[in-house]
This record gives sequence, C-alpha cells and structure tokens, in this order.
Amino acid sequence: MNQLPPRAERALITGGAGFIGSHLAEYLLAQGQWVHVIDDLSTGSIENLDGLKDHPRFSYTIDDVRNEPVTAELVDRADVIYHLAAAVGVRLIVESPVRTIETNIGCTEVVLKLANKKGKKVLIASTSEVYGKNNDVPFREDHDLVLGPTSKSRWSYACSKAIDEFLALAYHRARRLPVVVARLFNTVGPRQTGRYGMVLPTFVRQALQGRPLTVFGDGSQSRCFSDVGEVVRALAALAHCPEAVGRVVNVGSRQEITIRELAELVIRLANSDSPITYVPYDQAYEEGFEDMARRVPDVSLLESLVGFAPSKPIEQIVQGVIDYYRHR
Ligand code: UDP
Repeated sequence: MNQLPPRAERALITGGAGFIGSHLAEYLLAQGQWVHVIDDLSTGSIENLDGLKDHPRFSYTIDDVRNEPVTAELVDRADVIYHLAAAVGVRLIVESPVRTIETNIGCTEVVLKLANKKGKKVLIASTSEVYGKNNDVPFREDHDLVLGPTSKSRWSYACSKAIDEFLALAYHRARRLPVVVARLFNTVGPRQTGRYGMVLPTFVRQALQGRPLTVFGDGSQSRCFSDVGEVVRALAALAHCPEAVGRVVNVGSRQEITIRELAELVIRLANSDSPITYVPYDQAYEEGFEDMARRVPDVSLLESLVGFAPSKPIEQIVQGVIDYYRHR
C-alpha cells in the first residue's frame, strides 16, 4: 500500500527542469524531502524551477547526466534517484532521431551504473510508447511490445526506452539493484509545452489565440490523459513501495478520449471560436508516419501497489491547463 516516504530523504531528479520532473521536485519538497535536480536544459526549462530556487531544501546542477564525475557525486549524496532525463515528444523524435537514441540510452546507462556502484534505489521513467502498435487494450505490463520498422524514426523512441527497461531489470536481476520502472501514459498539466508535439498544450494555445486546432489524422485515435500532480504522487509512492522493486508498472488514467473529442472539449472550455482543421499525418510528421489507434493502460498493478491510480476528470485537467495559459 501507499507508504509515505521518510522525512528528510534526499532525492536526485534527473531531468528535473522538465515538465514532470519539476512537478515531482515540488511534490517531494512539500513532503519534507531534500531535492537536487540535474538537467541540461535541452528540453527542460530553467523557468520550470523558478518557484523552487529559493527553497532551503532545493538545489540544482545544469549539466548533462552523461558527465559522469558530476553525476557520480550527486548519486553519492542521494538516497533515491528519479531518472526522468530523456528526449521526449514525438516531434523531437522524428526531427532528431540521433539525439533521442543517444540521450535515452546513454543517460540511463550512466545512472544505473553509478546507482549500482553505491547501491542506490532508482526509479526509471519509461513510456507507454513501448507498447507500440499493440491494439490489445488495456495494455498490461506483460503484454507484447509491437513496434514498427526501424525505417520509421518514431519507433526509435519506444525501442530506446525498451532498452532502458531491459537494462534496469538486468541490473535488478544480476546485481540486486533496487529499481522500479514506471511506464508513463499521456501526462498533462501546467508548464507542459507544445514545442515537442504534445497535443493538449498545443490545442489550448491554438484555442486561446483563436487559431484552428490541428487534429492529426481523422481524430479518431484515443488517449488517456492523466494529471501531472497525480502522476508524480504515484511515482513517489512507487519509489517507496518495496513490492514494486524489480517491476514494470503502468502509470496512467483509465479515462479514454479521442483526439477529436479533446479538441471539442478544449474549444468549449476555453469559450473559443476556433475551428478544427484535420491535418494528414504525412504533413504533420513525416511521410508514412504511424500513429497508435488507442492507448489505454491497465492500472490494476499500480492500484494494488500504491492504493490509487490517476483519476482526475479530463474536464478539470483541461480547465487547469487553460487557466495556466490564460494567466501566463
Ligand atoms: N496530435 C494532434 N494534433 C497536434 C499534436 C498531436 O492531433 O497538434 C495527436 C497525435 O497525432 C496523437 C495524439 O494527438 O494521436 C497525442 O499526441 P502526443 O504527441 O501528445 O502524444 P503521443 O500519445 O503521440 O505520445
């Protein structure tokens, strides 16, 4: 069950200036923990740390996780490591495949190697993208991964994160390293940027600016969106759940919505006059782009381990993102 972390624990968050990482930092500080963030600001932003910089239990380092002497020192000082540093966002992956593969595999290798040297607990953030084109929803952690051909760069993201998972589980099996792998489904909330292709912040900005909402394909593809606040609570609980060690756990919400319905909801809640425009995938991403039709998690394992799964209603989540962008 959900065990509250001991007070005054020291957490290291790689990628802590990112959207999810910065929310996790905020949450852990509110729980009374010490938090150190390492981030190279490649996709994260220093502004995400603005509200934390003056906190007496918060500190940060701007550097690449692959700078081993620096990361070694930080791992040494930490009780638990949340490894969130990664290249994320479908647009980034399609546009920068080399960077995606090298960052995702290279950073995880370093974190696991250093954590293993010191026997430190690690939570690895993975992604629901690893399920690929599997249509057997809801996705359970032991389902097959169904990836497309290597000629389509989108799949390099899933593949690189799958390697991260293999490596983490291998460290656990072969070296008894305490690791937990969290497979994150679509996570949204304040501070998420649409720059790397994420749909909700993109739609909200379009609606508030009176521009057409760009629905890719016919909009019948569906996702389950969870609120970042609930997701980081689940990550912290998993990191402190002894039964989660050595396991892969889905972290997401059960509420499914099509992208067309999402666009309509954003327009309604933002009181916007924006129309919806349908953009073929080839134009949105690249020739021959393959999307997933449905992405729905089975969260029974998460619930049995920590006692809850994200469930905030999509209307409230969308309203929160609209309010955030309105007040920026
Ligand atoms: N999408 C869209 N318009 C956009 C951005 C994304 O219709 O401006 C679609 C995208 O094709 C996918 C869904 O929204 O089907 C979710 O995209 P996102 O990149 O947020 O996450 P994904 O689930 O693809 O990782």
